[in-house]
Amino acid sequence: MKLLEKMVISDGKVYDNNVLKVDSFLNHQIDPKLMNEMAKVFYSYFKEKGITKVLTIEASGIAPAILVSYLLEVPMVFAKKSKPSTITGDNFYSSSVYSYTKNITSNIIVSKDYISKNDNVLIIDDFLANGEAVRGLVEIVDKAEANVSGIGILVEKSFQKGRLELEKSGFDICSLCRIASLEKGKVIFNKADDEK
Ligand code: 5GP
Repeated sequence: MKLLEKMVISDGKVYDNNVLKVDSFLNHQIDPKLMNEMAKVFYSYFKEKGITKVLTIEASGIAPAILVSYLLEVPMVFAKKSKPSTITGDNFYSSSVYSYTKNITSNIIVSKDYISKNDNVLIIDDFLANGEAVRGLVEIVDKAEANVSGIGILVEKSFQKGRLELEKSGFDICSLCRIASLEKGKVIFNKADDEK
């Protein structure tokens, strides 16, 4: 998606450990018009897939996911990074997710009330790097015996292993911005999935 690539070039900052900071429009301050444009692209890409739920992980996945779910006219569910007291007993699915940027492992949780066997789930997240966050969400969908119908990513770092591993598992992935390299602080793109 050309608009997102433009924003990454104009507003993104590359850090030493191959981390791209996009706090000015995605991870801290959020640009609602850009989010809406991105949601429209996901909608066009996934609208024939019979999606019944959009699933993401707090916090940065929530903004794009809610806009996509609004267009698809289905509920959006976000995995929580800690178990709230309102989810009791064993009424939840969980998975362990290692965060590349924060260097911590979180146990992500989704209530059994909000994903069930007949759901066709669209997973949305802000970044795809090593694929830990998406893998954790896929595991939760599997535990619910539901189906992953697609994966929508805003910024993919194609030089890390996440994309390749998800492709090997046969998932339909739409990344709006695919970064081939961040070496020497310079952003180089692969062709995005919505432009193929
Ligand atoms: P993964 O689980 O695929 O390794 O990484 C995905 C998660 O890590 C995303 O949800 C995002 O929060 C974070 N992340 C990974 N790489 C980056 C990066 O370069 N920049 C930012 N802002 N977040 C990242």
